[in-house]
Amino acid sequence: MGLIFLGASEAQKRTQAPILAQGNIMRLIFLGPPGAGKGTQAAILAQELNIPHISTGDLLRSAIAQKTALGILAQAYLESGELVPDALIMAMMGERLAEFDALGGWILDGFPRNLSQAQALDRLLQILGQSHPQAVNFNVATESLIAKMLQRGRKDDNENLIRRRLEVYQEKTTPLINFYKQRRCLIDIDGNLTPEAVSQSIREKLSLAVPV
Ligand code: ADP
Repeated sequence: MGLIFLGASEAQKRTQAPILAQGNIMRLIFLGPPGAGKGTQAAILAQELNIPHISTGDLLRSAIAQKTALGILAQAYLESGELVPDALIMAMMGERLAEFDALGGWILDGFPRNLSQAQALDRLLQILGQSHPQAVNFNVATESLIAKMLQRGRKDDNENLIRRRLEVYQEKTTPLINFYKQRRCLIDIDGNLTPEAVSQSIREKLSLAVPV
């Protein structure tokens, strides 16, 4: 009987091989106001590329549901539409990006959300030995955002909270558009199109093959 035992690292190398072999690791930041459809697009592209879709909102909601220390600390901020303090977010993201599945690339959805998070992400990537990410900016007419979010029917989607989240986005997150533009790594997407057309335009602008 011939048995071959693969060590964990050997097995891990094999699972990662298809991604790493491309030599074209996708590290993407999806930027855009709440309700712009970036979560939907991030999920689609992450599946196509076989990389994790990392949504800070989802991670926080799951921490709250599980009543972890992070969840307990974060809850009041989500319930008021304010940003969770940077130190908590960075601790959470530092752990998440150091996980094995994040070595072959990722799509970040909802992070970074202000300049200090973007700078902290730069430092984190330097420590992890990973190159700069590319930012994908969703441009969407603001009038349609509130209606879209109300349709989503998430627990934290009542109108006052939505308005506050939009204000926080304008004030804290929009400066990131220039931050990444100056670095010449920003792609602009028209988020007003149908979801299929938006997907298509992201693929084209990132020069990815269109799946048949
Ligand atoms: P939306 O879909 O409205 O953009 P998210 O699911 O991304 O909302 O985030 C919901 C809430 O979680 C935010 O209003 C904020 O309180 C918190 N949150 C998510 N990501 C971050 C982050 N990067 N920094 C601080 N707070 C965050």
